[in-house]
Amino acid sequence: MGNSRIDKGRPCRICSSSDRQAIELALVTNTAVSSISNRFGLSVSGVNRHVKAHMAPELRETFRASQRLNARDLIARVAEIANDALSTRKAALVAGQDVAALKAGDAELRALSVLTNRFGIDDLLVLDQLTEAQNLARAVGSLASTHPDAVRTLAAALELNGATEMATALSAVLKNERKEGS
Ligand SMILES: [Zn+2]
Repeated sequence: MGNSRIDKGRPCRICSSSDRQAIELALVTNTAVSSISNRFGLSVSGVNRHVKAHMAPELRETFRASQRLNARDLIARVAEIANDALSTRKAALVAGQDVAALKAGDAELRALSVLTNRFGIDDLLVLDQLTEAQNLARAVGSLASTHPDAVRTLAAALELNGATEMATALSAVLKNERKEGS
C-alpha cells in the first residue's frame, strides 16, 4: 500500500507537458536521453521513468530498439576524435614537434579505421543526414497535436514506402494524442 502511494504520488512532468509528443518522438528517433533532458529541462531519471511507466507500449518498444541501434552519437564521437587528432597533428607539425605529430596521426588513423571498419562509413555526410532526419522527426512530432491529419497522411505514406517502423511510431504518437484529448 505504501509503495503504490509513493509511485502515484510523484507527478510526471512529461505526461502533463505540452511537449509530450515532441519528447516521445525524440525518444523513438535515436535522440540520446541526455540531450532530451537538456533540451526540455527534464531530469534523465524523469525521462526514463516516463518511458518505463507511462509511454505507450508500442512506443516503448520502438524506443528500446532505437537505443540498441543508437549508433549516431557513437559515430559522432569517433569522428570528433579523428578531427581532434587531425588538429593536434597539424598544430604539432607547425610547431616542429615531430613525435607529437606522429602520435596524433596514429590516433587519427585509429579513429578513422573504426569509422570505416566498424561502422562502414567512408563519408561523414552520413552524420549530417542523420541529424537532418532527427530534425525532421522533431518537426513532425510537434505537428502531431496541431495537425494530426497531416501526420496521419505522412504515416500512411511512410508505410507505403516500407518505412514501417517510423510509420508505427507516428501512429502510436497520434493514438496517444487522441487518448489524451478524449
Ligand atoms: Zn509520464
